[in-house]
Amino acid sequence: MKLKRRDFLKAAMAGGLVLTSGIATRSWGANAKVVVVGGGTGGATVAKYLKLADPSIEVTLIEKNPYYYTCYMSNEVLSGDRTLDSLKFDYEGLKKRGINVVIAEVTGIDASTRQVKTTAGNFSYDRCVVSPGIDYRYDTIAGYSADIAENTIPHAWKAGTQTTLLRSQLEAMPNGGTFVMVAPPNPYRCPPAPYERASQVARYFKQYKPNSKVLILDPKLTFTKQPLFEEAWMKLYGYGTNNSLIEWVSGADKTITTLNAAQKQVITAGKQTVTASVLNIIPAQKAGALAFTAGLTDSSGWCPVQLESFESTLKPNIHVIGDACTAAPLPKSGFAANSEAKACALAIAALLNGRAVGRTSFNNGCYSVVGEGYAISIVAVYRLSGDRLSIEAIPDSGGMSPLAASDEDHLMDAQYAYSWYNNFTRDVFM
Ligand code: FAD
Repeated sequence: MKLKRRDFLKAAMAGGLVLTSGIATRSWGANAKVVVVGGGTGGATVAKYLKLADPSIEVTLIEKNPYYYTCYMSNEVLSGDRTLDSLKFDYEGLKKRGINVVIAEVTGIDASTRQVKTTAGNFSYDRCVVSPGIDYRYDTIAGYSADIAENTIPHAWKAGTQTTLLRSQLEAMPNGGTFVMVAPPNPYRCPPAPYERASQVARYFKQYKPNSKVLILDPKLTFTKQPLFEEAWMKLYGYGTNNSLIEWVSGADKTITTLNAAQKQVITAGKQTVTASVLNIIPAQKAGALAFTAGLTDSSGWCPVQLESFESTLKPNIHVIGDACTAAPLPKSGFAANSEAKACALAIAALLNGRAVGRTSFNNGCYSVVGEGYAISIVAVYRLSGDRLSIEAIPDSGGMSPLAASDEDHLMDAQYAYSWYNNFTRDVFM
């Protein structure tokens, strides 16, 4: 059977194939120190691949939590299809690879003395990699705060206790209630995830609370994989009919300006008041707090980097990867963070060994599980431009699930999604 390019890419995604070129290259002998800040998707990957690229490098990974819960697949906790515990990873695999894992909070980075300051003391480095993830712009909504998100109106945009709080609120909601989800403006972590979340909540309602509804308030006019999501919603949740389990309303006038947390009410820029039974505000986002403390952000609230090595353009010898950096058109996704981490590891190994940095390619793929045995997917391959100043999508290299695909195709996409999760988390943490 002839394998089409699209099918090859999908199989590659599910199998966790590494498309980043040259990853097998090994250097030996830099004997340098690299400190990685943040043991999430980007940080754990870069620590592992630095050791693979040059085992002589002393790699220290500093992470504030002893366990990491993946955001990927966390929307399934909301439908009750999986537990938070099924998303939990530790750092034992990385330790076995000779990485020095320190559980501590990083409080600052002094680029002039090359010191990372933590609650467990200072760590010196030759090069530092920062992958602190995201933070939230609570100040864009009057009446909203980190405290409210933690205790009453969870965003659940980092998997953890907020995910289980949101799930318990959905369980306590009466049949006939409305789950109001406020979608974030661009750019934000994982572009399809709000719409996957709406699908997973609708899936729960369809089975257990069929008189209920998901209402998405969205400041954006379009979203990624929209035709595929809408097709799935029509098939599975009656989208577009009077009995639809999902309603999506969009436009600048749907931007939320004010929250009345006690009443679970939001007020839109269009002066509409919307009351929820369960309210889920996914706020506007910016780079993780440490990126600001370390002086790595520009006026956009994200971290500018040289794209061939992910070295900060603001602080020498500090590299920023993952959601916190600006690397468009790569999206802010775990898949992209993993791909950036591999490119960054190779670049650092080259720099520490006095070699030229290679020209890397990147890949991103994303499965959205929208119902039982029903998923949709997108994949793209990218490379550094010839002048190395930008990243460009390689024409005709990617693809999306087709519209009007068969149930069997969607079932296969769901199986690929779970296979991808198993292979990907292994690639990151083991
Ligand atoms: P993170 O993975 O968040 O890691 C940051 C780490 O830094 C954390 O462990 C944090 O504790 C640590 N840290 C931060 N500050 C400090 C400090 N001062 N000291 C010590 N440690 C610190 N992506 C996909 O590719 N596919 C998907 O299907 C997918 N689904 C998603 C679904 C949802 C609901 C969400 C919210 C996201 C999803 N994502 C998905 C996106 C993905 O989770 C992120 O893009 C990815 O985790 C980014 O990696 P990162 O390393 O930048 O940040």
